Amino acid sequence: YFITFEGGEGAGKTTVLFALEKQLTELGFDVLTTREPGGIAIAEKIRDIILTPAHTEMDGRTEALLYAAARRQHLVEKIIPALKQGKVVLCDRFIDSSLAYQGHARNLGIDEVFAINQFAIQEVMPDMTLFFEIKPKEGLKRISANKDRERNRLDLETLAFHEKVYEAYHILLDKFPNRIRKINANQQLEDVIKDTLEQITFFLNE
Ligand code: C5P
Ligand code: MG
Repeated sequence: YFITFEGGEGAGKTTVLFALEKQLTELGFDVLTTREPGGIAIAEKIRDIILTPAHTEMDGRTEALLYAAARRQHLVEKIIPALKQGKVVLCDRFIDSSLAYQGHARNLGIDEVFAINQFAIQEVMPDMTLFFEIKPKEGLKRISANKDRERNRLDLETLAFHEKVYEAYHILLDKFPNRIRKINANQQLEDVIKDTLEQITFFLNE
């Protein structure tokens, strides 16, 4: 099964993902965790190009195409082979990030960005997506409190931009009601982890 973790900055996706890898493995599932943009050498290089703070001149469509290219390579090289081996793949961000960030927040259009991504993924959509919901103000507060976090180009964006990302995920919830489930990320980490485990085990056992 292919499960993706989505949401704005500082929602705790990455931390929860690694906690879930451990818990699901203990429950006997064969788990692979990975992230986007990145996950494999070529895509990590594309990630560097996209996220380097100095690349402020990057055009929105260029950015969207680079994300789609990185996604394609990551999918064929890592995700699809793991799914074929029967693994539970937990991926930190996937197509919904592009629809939210480039499609809605950068105004390229959700449908337009979906179209280039359909070329990239050839119908391999997540079986389940968890949206970690936290108001941008709260998420950004968490990030600025975390001194260890690497800074990227998105950290230069305004609060208004992150509000649009938040709005976008709610549009996507309406658009894909069967695939996307909401997790309240504005609670103690252990409770977020507990809710996430509950959603995933429910899904895997149904
Ligand atoms: O989740 P993570 O912090 O690794 O994401 C890296 C950065 O890339 C984030 O700041 C995120 O907002 C940005 N991003 C984006 N568009 C995407 C995926 C990620 O702007 N499609
Ligand atoms: Mg993260």
